[in-house]
Amino acid sequence: MESVFNLMNKSAVAAAELDAGLAKLGLDGTQHVLAHASLRSFGRLEGGARTLVDVLAARTATLAAPAFTYATMLYRPTDPVHARFTRDRRVSRELGRLPQEMVERAAAQRSFHPTLSFVALGEQAEYVTRRQSLGQPYGPVGALYELGGYSLMVGTDWDSNTAIHYGEYLAGVPYLSRWAELNGAVAEMAFPNCSADFGNLAPYVHDLASVVRVGQSTLQLYPLRDLVDRAVTLLQADPKALLCRSRSCRCQQVGALIDREGLRPRAHQAELN
Ligand SMILES: [Zn+2]
Repeated sequence: MESVFNLMNKSAVAAAELDAGLAKLGLDGTQHVLAHASLRSFGRLEGGARTLVDVLAARTATLAAPAFTYATMLYRPTDPVHARFTRDRRVSRELGRLPQEMVERAAAQRSFHPTLSFVALGEQAEYVTRRQSLGQPYGPVGALYELGGYSLMVGTDWDSNTAIHYGEYLAGVPYLSRWAELNGAVAEMAFPNCSADFGNLAPYVHDLASVVRVGQSTLQLYPLRDLVDRAVTLLQADPKALLCRSRSCRCQQVGALIDREGLRPRAHQAELN
């Protein structure tokens, strides 16, 4: 037993190794970063989610992440409300431990959106989380686009990268409607196609990537503006390029809307007000 324990201990990634990896990517504490992370991808990270957030926050000026709460979402406006959003509401499990650890920090800002909220720490946290509306759920990504930020994938794949949704927004991919309780009333909100096939963008962004291995995890960093712009270019050429093929997925509804209406490009807004 002891030898197995030692083996596991040996393979654990230390905070200093993660820090060195982030430094190698060029993160020096001045960048505004949208992060997606899989803690499990390291094998084991000493100190877990706490270390992850501590090290990421120290290597960034602003650290932002999606902190979605799917339990609040209604498929019809008449559906009964089972769950209400609050600042401290638990992040859906599939988003991983990073955003939950951030939400639990009092210094973190969390946007108001009942289902698609973002959480942020640091210099521009307020600016990033303020830039959202029910009609523009990926406004926080737009804020990072405006700030010349970066998209960081810590052991995650494209299918969790919410930055791509901002490319869809700009390209004019139609939104569907979902609902959620907000301030005591049921409100309609714009809701996107799924992200299962966002990997279709990967061949077009290889040259933008900085990549480093930390333990068993692969970390990828992309300039967010270039990443989003490449998604727009791809969608202009092939509007359904990022929709998944699953027959039961809402992506098919989005595809039907594209067939009917085409893309309706939206402008990037530097400021909401
Ligand atoms: Zn889909």
